[in-house]
Amino acid sequence: MTRLDDLPIRDDLRGATPYGAPQRPVRIQLNVNENTHPVPEAVVAHVTAAAERAVRGVNRYPDREFTELREHLASYLSAAEPADPVTPDQVWAANGSNEVIQHMLQAFGGPGRRMLGFPPTYSMHSIIAAGTGTEWITAERDADFRISPETVRSAIERAQPDIVVLCAPNNPTGTPLGLETIEAAYAATTGILLVDEAYAEFMPEGHRSALSLLPGRPRLAVSRTMSKAFAFAGARLGYLAADPALIDALRLVRLPYHLSAITQAAAVAALQQAPTMLATVDAIRTQRDRLLAELPALGYAPHDSWANFVLFGGVDDPAATFHYLLERDILIRDVGLAGHLRVTAGTEAETSEFLEVLGRMPR
Ligand SMILES: *Cc1c(COP(=O)(O)O)cnc(C)c1O
Repeated sequence: MTRLDDLPIRDDLRGATPYGAPQRPVRIQLNVNENTHPVPEAVVAHVTAAAERAVRGVNRYPDREFTELREHLASYLSAAEPADPVTPDQVWAANGSNEVIQHMLQAFGGPGRRMLGFPPTYSMHSIIAAGTGTEWITAERDADFRISPETVRSAIERAQPDIVVLCAPNNPTGTPLGLETIEAAYAATTGILLVDEAYAEFMPEGHRSALSLLPGRPRLAVSRTMSKAFAFAGARLGYLAADPALIDALRLVRLPYHLSAITQAAAVAALQQAPTMLATVDAIRTQRDRLLAELPALGYAPHDSWANFVLFGGVDDPAATFHYLLERDILIRDVGLAGHLRVTAGTEAETSEFLEVLGRMPR
């Protein structure tokens, strides 16, 4: 048997570990922050019809510029931030926001360049940095995982990174990030600022997204995804908004025709049904707030969350608690933070069962 180490792999990938959230066929999956509500039947029919039309044309390459999809994404973002509408030439998309981030690092990172992040944060940021030969450097957060404008400014001045990545709200902690911290980060860097807003739709009503900071900031990019609130994780569609010149940089590194005709058609059809697809967001927020309210009564210490998941401390033995739940058909996430576990806010029934089983666990 050949071992990976026996192969002439790049030196900088030796000993690295791949992304590895466990995938198990359990009944209640609350481990990767998907929208756990089923896709509404009306949307299934609409997306299926669009995909069928696309299949009739798959003898041809798809629209390399995914023009129609960019128009729909621009309208969707503009509806969310009507004061600062986004135009189609400001939009990029790829197979998940992970690929969008990879395009960013291929264009603005790479060998000899460095990206600054603030752990604990989304594990894929450092993994994509490694894959693109970008050095991943880190700075500390403030108390309770927050990042103040002063903290971000001094970290950037010290490190002088080529790219800064901020996750807002942050995964795996759920921590909100103020616009003033994003403004301070942009002002402090001469490099690129990437704000990962995978969970933006779960933020409180009326909180402005980093999209509102795009005008006049050509080095700012805001990434989003259809994988979380939008209930479209399996379709793989992530996107980004930025200055049209930054979008042109991404055209230099993407593979031609990277978004299949079927993906483009399915995403456009889902965006046409956006209100239906997002109808569960309020219910999910309610379950998140319920986790925040009820976990303390069970003796745990949840951290404030603006996302669709909750990180909770006070777990004596995270591995044991993880397995206790798994044996009872509930999969949550051990994110490797001492004394902590993370759980996705599911449907009301899933959340109830999680709380009930956790409450029954002998401690
Ligand atoms: C889930 C997640 C993503 C989404 O990745 P996709 O490739 O779009 O599915 C991106 N960023 C963060 C912080 C996430 O938690």
